[in-house]
Amino acid sequence: VAAFSALKRGKEEFMAYQISEKCTKCGACASVCPQEAIAEGPKTYVIDADKCVDCGLCEGECPVEAISAG
Ligand code: SF4
Ligand code: SF4
Repeated sequence: VAAFSALKRGKEEFMAYQISEKCTKCGACASVCPQEAIAEGPKTYVIDADKCVDCGLCEGECPVEAISAG
């Protein structure tokens, strides 16, 4: 995990994953995120861009394809 934090990338080349309004709040993505970057928001689950390391695990887990690379 420390290795991930050491990977500081420039803002222009690193965009966190994002969750669209298609999210049904099933919670699947949050349970697989190794960074605990995903939490329940008011309308959808939301990804904390400061924690996300762009691993893509959540994208493959979402049953409604609400997650995409930013
Ligand atoms: S891309 Fe990886 S680190 Fe970012 S929110 Fe998804 S599972 Fe978490
Ligand atoms: S897996 Fe998809 S539908 Fe489920 S909470 Fe995450 S973004 Fe929403």
